[in-house]
Amino acid sequence: MYRTHTNGELRASDIDKEVTLSGWVQHVRNKGFLVWVDLRDRYGITQLIFDGERSPKELIEKASHLGREYVIQVKGKVIERQSKNPNIPTGDIEILVSELNILNESKTPPFTIEDKTDGGEELRLKYRYLDIRRNPIRENLIFRHKVAMAVRNYLSNEDFIEVETPYLIKSTPEGARDFVVPSRMNKGQFYALPQSPQTFKQLLMVGGMDKYFQIVRCFRDEDLRADRQPEFTQIDCEMAFVEQEDVLELFEGLLKHLLAELKGVHIEGNIPRMTYDEAMQKYGNDKPDIRFGMEFGELNEVAQHKDFNVFNQAELVAGIAVPGVNSYSRKDIDKLIDWVRRPQVGAKGMVYVRCNDDGTFRSSVDKFYDQEDLAKWAEITGAKPGDLICVLSGNKNEVRSQLSALRMEMAERLGLRNPEEFAPLWVIDFPLLEWDEDTQRYYAMHHPFTAPKKGQLELLDTKPGEVKANAYDLVLNGNEIGGGSIRIHDTQMQDTMFKHLGFTPEEAKKQFGFLLEAFQYGAPPHAGIAFGMDRLTSILGGEETIREFIAFPKNNMGRDLMIDAPATIDLAQLQELSLKVDIKEK
Ligand code: ASP
Repeated sequence: MYRTHTNGELRASDIDKEVTLSGWVQHVRNKGFLVWVDLRDRYGITQLIFDGERSPKELIEKASHLGREYVIQVKGKVIERQSKNPNIPTGDIEILVSELNILNESKTPPFTIEDKTDGGEELRLKYRYLDIRRNPIRENLIFRHKVAMAVRNYLSNEDFIEVETPYLIKSTPEGARDFVVPSRMNKGQFYALPQSPQTFKQLLMVGGMDKYFQIVRCFRDEDLRADRQPEFTQIDCEMAFVEQEDVLELFEGLLKHLLAELKGVHIEGNIPRMTYDEAMQKYGNDKPDIRFGMEFGELNEVAQHKDFNVFNQAELVAGIAVPGVNSYSRKDIDKLIDWVRRPQVGAKGMVYVRCNDDGTFRSSVDKFYDQEDLAKWAEITGAKPGDLICVLSGNKNEVRSQLSALRMEMAERLGLRNPEEFAPLWVIDFPLLEWDEDTQRYYAMHHPFTAPKKGQLELLDTKPGEVKANAYDLVLNGNEIGGGSIRIHDTQMQDTMFKHLGFTPEEAKKQFGFLLEAFQYGAPPHAGIAFGMDRLTSILGGEETIREFIAFPKNNMGRDLMIDAPATIDLAQLQELSLKVDIKEK
């Protein structure tokens, strides 16, 4: 038997017990005649003591040669510890060792296996198995397991069935680039890895499964800006015979369940809802963080038609009232203006109004606006004495995204983005289509199976950009954690949709013919949603990056540094697949 107890288990009540423990050597303290070893496993740390007065000399000798991360087994007696450690659960006891077996030696690890390690991320990813021995990563993986279990429990209680769908498929409709896999048996042909199980879950509805879910890997070959992974996990769900209301209710129940189970946070009442248009107008963003205010005030009416040309020419003049920073010095404000002018933000400049404590105003455009004008700006932006109003102007969409960036930056500086506070929000009524400047055509904003809102079909021919969809996103603390829609379930409407998305009937048939055909055999009305499991877990876990919650993540070049993938393959392998690699050396 390798162990009678784990290293997180023994307490004062176990004193005098003879025990066997196994684990890794975290730390050795050698005082010559006394050697202490911290023994670690998944469950915790137990202190071992090798005492020259109470144990044979060879044992002390052996113990003093232990290195970091050696795997050992010890037998000994639980005794009361002289200097107790209140920081760990086993801190009242130690093991007086009578027998030591070295199960395996270890090279010195390339970074310290401590909560705060000296290893940079590249090194940690290369030796991920060592990184996983560290508390933070181990705890994150256990937390992820708990999220998955809570999801499965909730959905299973609601009669959902977990069904696996294939990974070797053909192109899916999510609009990213596919990862492809060559087929040896069908020369010259390729599978695509699923960007999501979208078409399969709809086919499961045609198959009468009624309520489906799956915790499933999805693959999208995108540039990995920010915190993305080429393979990521979705909690993918679909239901038949439901309307939008049914879906929203059931899945806000899921989020509430997760918050209650995992965080002890109880959300009272319904999760608030906001239309896409309102979100864009108030926050310049379709996934607004509503843990704090600073809603946009549109100032066109009160700021235009004075002599300030910059504003007169603008499509949108909008501002936010940043609470309590009227004390920003001229220099601070200049720095903030530099910040909004960074290429990543892209504003040309910024007008500001200091809301003085005595109720008067002082602005960078006092030449054009009097106190009465500025009082109107304050009213519209909701500014109070003590605040600083920041105003941007220009093209509507640009101003919205710039002001949104500024709002988030100020919230960050003011510490308003508290990771222990959870503010969920449904964003509904998304546009059906999205115009793409580069290719000069419309694309489905969600995917081509999303149903337009009732009565909006006529608009498709005249004002396609204005058609709203039965599509919804669940937003948590400024992150889209889930999104879905009511699906089109009749072939004719689906044909119309494909036509507007620029598919010829042949193209539509080639790519999605199987689905169109299935819809001719009694497809029920259906709808669904998918949650980003990695993101959801990291937000609930209070961390910034999803990599910290993925056992073996890739770096931002899509590389697995540990196994060194992707890699070239043998000529023989290529030949078997009838493939030729033609890459010009740089
Ligand atoms: N398949 C969609 C996605 O991955 C989600 C859905 O519509 O259910 O975004």
